[in-house]
Amino acid sequence: MVAISVYRYGHRLNRDKRITTHTALVARAFGAREIVVDTRDEGLEDTVRDVNERFGNDFSIETGVSWQQFRRRHDGAVVHLTMYGQPVGEVIDDIQGHDDVVALVGSQKVPGRFYGIADYNVAVGNQPHSEVAALALFLHFLTDGGWQHRRFYGIHRVVPQRHGKKVVERDYAELLRDAGCPPAVIEHARRVQRLAVAIATCIRRRGVDVDMATVKIGAMLHDLGRAETQDIMHVPAGISLAQEYGLPDKIVRVIERHAGAGIDRAEAEKLGLPPGDYMPRTIEEKIVAHADNLTGMEYRDVDAAAEKLREAAGEMAAGRLLQMHRELSELCGQDVGELL
Ligand code: SAM
Repeated sequence: MVAISVYRYGHRLNRDKRITTHTALVARAFGAREIVVDTRDEGLEDTVRDVNERFGNDFSIETGVSWQQFRRRHDGAVVHLTMYGQPVGEVIDDIQGHDDVVALVGSQKVPGRFYGIADYNVAVGNQPHSEVAALALFLHFLTDGGWQHRRFYGIHRVVPQRHGKKVVERDYAELLRDAGCPPAVIEHARRVQRLAVAIATCIRRRGVDVDMATVKIGAMLHDLGRAETQDIMHVPAGISLAQEYGLPDKIVRVIERHAGAGIDRAEAEKLGLPPGDYMPRTIEEKIVAHADNLTGMEYRDVDAAAEKLREAAGEMAAGRLLQMHRELSELCGQDVGELL
């Protein structure tokens, strides 16, 4: 699959907000991995990141990057979209031979030098129209229509309707299946999710702010890396997969920090994990880590969970688990074990 970046030249803060947003959304929807914009625009970045958060994808946006800066770190074949170029149908086979393509679109008049710099000047019809249309059609050609099969794993899933609108909360078991997790892992994840949601609900009733979506999705996906391996390396594997699927950072952190009752730097080194500590910090991370400890294929009480962790990781880890149990039980106003 060709890696596609879009560079947006000539973005004007006072005039182009809407059309550059649309250019970015078209890039995201039709298969590009990033858009880079010459003029700094934080509002534009926020809008695109918000769409990423809700609808998924690892699409990235960066603004305030000059063409020269961009080219210093990016050497893909440059395709300048312009009504004066060669017809897209005539050059697309050639362009598809590159692994890395930069689609350059203008807004105001694009300086003449770009026509020389570009590896290809490509016209989507020789009539003047719009960067949004030109980019959409070019990406359709470039991916051979393959953009239609790209999966997005955002919190919201649109269910296509003949009439009306239907948006449902995503069932992330689907992602576990797509990644190749064994059925037992998915069943375990569902149990962890049930318990984690019960703990979060209990804590929220006592007026503590808990992000339920993070708990729900994090609990379902904490073992995503088990699609690749069943040992402790399922943690870094899960982090990489989650990033590939474009999941929000807060979910990636839950995956990173769910194992045991946290893994400190020294333990991580001993285990051969990539350097760093893997300790749960936010309330959501702690809830998922603890719900996982209290769940195998069946639920287990805290003493059994501590004993299991003591055998696997030693006294200190078991102590951390008991401490986490006390902390969450206090926030809950009752022993978390009673929620099992
Ligand atoms: N007058 C401007 C110029 O000379 O480049 C055109 C501005 S047009 C509104 C904005 C952008 O849309 C262009 O920079 C180009 O990338 C894209 N565009 C418009 N029509 C196009 C076409 N027929 N084929 C390819 N790109 C087109």
